[in-house]
Amino acid sequence: MKNIGLFRCRDNENNCPLTSCIRSIEGCRQGFASYEQARLVGVFSLQTSLENNLAMADILKQKGADTIHFVTCAFCHKDESKTWHLGKGFFEGLDELAKTITDQTGLPCVKGSAHLPNNYQVEQFNSQ
Ligand code: SF4
Repeated sequence: MKNIGLFRCRDNENNCPLTSCIRSIEGCRQGFASYEQARLVGVFSLQTSLENNLAMADILKQKGADTIHFVTCAFCHKDESKTWHLGKGFFEGLDELAKTITDQTGLPCVKGSAHLPNNYQVEQFNSQ
């Protein structure tokens, strides 16, 4: 069983209630397709402060998360036809943040949740 801590985007938190993210976790699909079973441990919204993001990652770990995921809309965008593409997501500098969280917490950080863009290979950061 994978215990998922999820980071979502503040800029989207009043528009999307995470429906597709939650369904993807429950069904082990999309960004969670490599897991046999998964459950959501908790959700935080990404902040502009690195310190705050690191503190929240620590809390997710304390609450039992063994893997951190970042929602797809953090690093992807949707076009007029509702097709998702890499880039122009809601959060700048996600790779740096994912690496830093992995280094600090020792937890793998994974970019992706629901509706992944075509041909996107799920990117995961592991501690060294
Ligand atoms: S990835 Fe999709 S379902 Fe998840 S928070 Fe972003 S827009 Fe909502």
